[in-house]
Amino acid sequence: MPDLSVVAPLYNESENVQPLVDWILEALSTYQGTYEIILVDDGSRDDTWSRIAGAALAHPQVHGLRLGRNVGQTAAMMAGFDHARGRVVVSLDGDLQNDPRDIPMLVAKLDEGYDLVCGWRQRRQDKLILRKVPSWVANRLIRRLTGVPITDNGCSLKAYRRELLDRISLYAEQHRFIPALSASVGARITELPVRHHARRFGESKYGISRTVKVLVDLVTLKMITTFRSRPLVGFAVASVPMVCAAAIFLMLWGYAATHFPPLKANAVVFPGAALLWLAAAFYLTMLGLVAEVALSSERESARETPTAREVR
Ligand code: UDP
Ligand code: MG
Repeated sequence: MPDLSVVAPLYNESENVQPLVDWILEALSTYQGTYEIILVDDGSRDDTWSRIAGAALAHPQVHGLRLGRNVGQTAAMMAGFDHARGRVVVSLDGDLQNDPRDIPMLVAKLDEGYDLVCGWRQRRQDKLILRKVPSWVANRLIRRLTGVPITDNGCSLKAYRRELLDRISLYAEQHRFIPALSASVGARITELPVRHHARRFGESKYGISRTVKVLVDLVTLKMITTFRSRPLVGFAVASVPMVCAAAIFLMLWGYAATHFPPLKANAVVFPGAALLWLAAAFYLTMLGLVAEVALSSERESARETPTAREVR
């Protein structure tokens, strides 16, 4: 078992493979422990895989992982994490935008007693309008909604303790929610300023459409972290205003029956409206029950139960 696993996802990054491997090897040349480098080929259509395979042949520390199709950065990172055997895992982008020379610093910080150390890109070398502005907004939103005080959630350069990775599961574009998800399982989190470089080879895999996806995921995340333990409570609370509306219509019905002339009093508008609101409230509560049942099996899994380390 190596002490450290470095994981990088690569999608059509052919020209970056060799420089990345050289750079990581150089950065870790003074690292005290043993390490492995896991390069995940996320279903590239260029010769990224053959270059990874070449690097794996040339250096015993390098391992290649080839995914059958393009599954996206988050899922590719997860695949790498699943294969990483290190006590400590570091993730970074495969496009040379993160600086491997920051790895030892992140690992040292982790050893001070954290479960997650997040990189915080200084002087970020990306486009202002398409990248930095949406990212600034997204980071503020994530901070507000999750309450986790990490400045740069989108930075891939992060160091994790193995036990933490075993307890969080990611999908969609959720790798930028790692700090928030980690906080929800009680991880000790900190951040460190890291270097950032402009892309030299290849091009970015994302357009402005990512902003929308991140926002949608943020809503999901908020739901997951707040309602997960008791979904029924959330649904029940949401149905309270509906029950109130039903009660108001029932009272109106009563008032109409006693004060209106017979023709108006017998109209079904008020009882009909009351019935509709009641039905909606009932429907929501039933949905809550379904959610409870759906989550109950998962709740028994180890992931949700606090570990002894969480008590401190
Ligand atoms: N990436 C990936 N699968 C994808 C998209 C991206 O593995 O479907 C990798 C990509 O090769 C790079 C990292 O994720 O190593 C970050 O992607 P990119 O540089 O395009 O994102 P940006 O830096 O522009 O946010
Ligand atoms: Mg990049």
